[in-house]
This record gives sequence, structure tokens and C-alpha cells, in this order.
Amino acid sequence: MTTYPITHLKAATALAVFLTVIITTLPAKESGNTARVPISLSIEPVLVSASPAAQNEGPGTEIEAIPWMNVKIRPGDNLSMIFKRMGLKAADLQAIVDIGADASVLKKIIAGKTLGLQISSEKRLMALRYEQNPLESLLVTRVGNKFVVYLNISEAEVITAFQTARISTDAPSLYHAGKKAGLSDNIIMKLSYIFQWDISFAFDLRKGDAFAVIYEEIYVDGEKVKEGDILAAHFQNMGKTYSAVLFEDDNGVKNYYTPAGRSLRKAFIRDPVHFSHVSSNFNLRRFHPIHKRVMPHRGVDYAANRGTPVVAAGDGKVIIARQNNASGKYVVIQHGEQYTTKYLHLSSFAKAVRSGKNVTQGQIIGFVGSTGWATAPHLHFEFLVNGVHRNPKTVKLPKAKPILTANMNQFRTNTAPILMRLSSIVGSTTFANASYKISRSDG
Ligand SMILES: [Zn+2]
Repeated sequence: MTTYPITHLKAATALAVFLTVIITTLPAKESGNTARVPISLSIEPVLVSASPAAQNEGPGTEIEAIPWMNVKIRPGDNLSMIFKRMGLKAADLQAIVDIGADASVLKKIIAGKTLGLQISSEKRLMALRYEQNPLESLLVTRVGNKFVVYLNISEAEVITAFQTARISTDAPSLYHAGKKAGLSDNIIMKLSYIFQWDISFAFDLRKGDAFAVIYEEIYVDGEKVKEGDILAAHFQNMGKTYSAVLFEDDNGVKNYYTPAGRSLRKAFIRDPVHFSHVSSNFNLRRFHPIHKRVMPHRGVDYAANRGTPVVAAGDGKVIIARQNNASGKYVVIQHGEQYTTKYLHLSSFAKAVRSGKNVTQGQIIGFVGSTGWATAPHLHFEFLVNGVHRNPKTVKLPKAKPILTANMNQFRTNTAPILMRLSSIVGSTTFANASYKISRSDG
């Protein structure tokens, strides 16, 4: 734990009045993150450039004996409300407001987090602590009639972890298999995006498919606070293997590559609806429920809740965005000379998606619905090559990005250790097979 004094004693200014208004009117934000690390206050704050009196006094001396009281921040709370609730003096609130920018994080306290308070028997606030995030916490301590702020920065420890998992009857989806292996939602999502060009996680997972993933875990004071990047991953899907390794170029841009240095990015992603939204037990519709006869079916149906985002499978230009009886609201995108994709039965179009507009891969173009001939919300997706319908699940798709050349030596040097590790993990798991050499996945 390192402590940085970030403020000097400051005189009250006219600004204080303004800040009081902000502090008392801004509601607490809801916290989406429940991870918390108890902050250690066994710190030795160093105070610089304060008045001589303050230096002698030090922040720790007079408050040592008072126990910390932890107050849970409620939705809509602000500092002023908490002070009132705790019976604290308005003058103390004002003195904290007077600190100004260095304590400005206290204007945006987040519901669900905890505010630590040291309160004297005369109801004077002696100290306050607030953890902004797992790495940074603010400590405000009384010095005379004023308060001084310290920022405590914990040092994060990054640990490399790995996990392997297998698709089975019990765990038929990437999500289930990942959870069974102890992976977080976060890592499962990241994994799905790494392989989104090669694998349809909505349709193409089979019993026996397996994967290995090496990723960073970030620890503070011995507790895991979050995960970092996936460093490398390996996926065995329907008899093919895919490997990915993270590489950061000179410009600080991180991307995933095959072990041979080809980008994993391709002209088309497999699923225009993220697999996590797709219901698996959806058996459309050779026998059309409205027309009561077998309909020719030239696309793939993704069952998902109304309003689920639908993304462009590749970069291209919208050539149709309109509505008709059969297709409902639908979008057609032209990708270069050869390729066309169609997205049917949308509940609505995304903003700025109209005929003639360019869209980029992964851009939201509309939302799942049941307009047109559809009995339940789903996306009907078609993929055409030179005007001919192809099965997007099986069609051979063009590779988009070329090999990186300028950084090749650096790439080899930097990724060799982690690829070796991936290789040994894959080689040591039960799903491994002697023929699954990492280099084979590149081609
Ligand atoms: Zn369909």
C-alpha cells in the first residue's frame, strides 16, 4: 500500500458554497460491481506542505483510539444525507467540501459501497475513508478544524490463471461449460468474442468440443478483485482447432492472432445475435405455423427475446431497410461485390440504419422482433454469395486481415512463452490429442 498526500490545507473559498450544492444534490450511483477489498489503513500517511502545526499533529495521532464505523451507501444517498443520518455536524461537511477537487470523488459516492467513519464522542467527524475502486481509496482525516486528503493506492498483483472445459450433455453451451469450469461471465464473454469469426457459439458446439483459456487475475491484498485480459486460448470445435494469442503492438493496440501471426478477424462474424441471447430449444419451422405447409427455408433462425441487438455480420452498405408483409422489418447489407446478408423480422431498426448507409462489422443494425410472417421473436438471417443462398453455418468465408509483418519478430518473441504454456495445457488435458499441435490451427 502506498499513500500519496494529495492536498494541502486549504482555506474556505466561495467555491465551497457551490460544491455544497453539488454534494447535497447528486444522488449516489448504483454500483454494478460487488467486488470489494477491505482497505487496510495500517498506512503511514506522509503529509507535505501543511502548516507546521498540522505536521506536528499528524493525521493518526488523535484519532487512533476511535473505532471505524462502516456505513452502507444507499441508492440515492449523498454525503450530506449520510452526515444527517449519522448526526454529524454541518460544519464538518462544509470542511470536507472545502477540500475541493481532491475530494471530489465524494460527490459521486456509489450505492452499495461503504463509507468508513470515525466519529468522536462529541459527534465530530475525525476521519472518513471511501474506496473508489479496488485499487484506490480515499482517506480524509481531521487536522484541527480542517481535513486533509490522502489517496491510498494499492499495488495490484497480476496472476496468470488457466482453465479447461468441455462441452457435454450437462454443459451443452459455451456458457454452461465455462461456468462448470469456474470461469466468470466476463471471461466467457471475452472468449466468445475472440473466436466469433470462426465458431458459431449459437449453433456449432458439439458434445466433446473443448477449450483451454489462459487469462489474468488481478489481486489486491491477497483478494481477487477482477480479471484482466485473456492471454491465449484454444478451442477444439467439430474436429477443428483454433488458437489465439494476445499481442500488443507498438501503438499499444491489443489484438488476437493465430500462433503464426494472422489476425483472427475475418470479413464475417458467425452469429449476428450473440449466443448468450439465443434460446437453444428453438426448432423452427420447416412446417410453417401460419401457412400450414412446409416452407423452403433459406436461412438460419436465431430465437431471442424481442429487442435483442442484431449486429452487422461484416462491414458493408445497407441497400434495403424497410418493411414488407413476409419479412416484416428487414435489412439487406451488401458486402463488397460478392456477399449479401439479410436480417428479417426485426422489431425496429437501429438509428442511422437506412438504405445507402455504411455499417461496420458488429454495429447494431436493428433489434429482434416478430414482424412479418413470424409467430415468435427471432432473427431470420440469410447469407448470399453471388446472389445464391448459402448456409452461413457452413459457407467458406473469406479471410479479411493479412498477416502482420512489421512486428513479426517481436510477435514471436513476446508470444512464445504463453503459447508454450497453452500448448502444455492443451497437451495435458484429457481432450488433448497428439495431433492437436498449436501450429495446426493456423491455416
Ligand atoms: Zn427463418
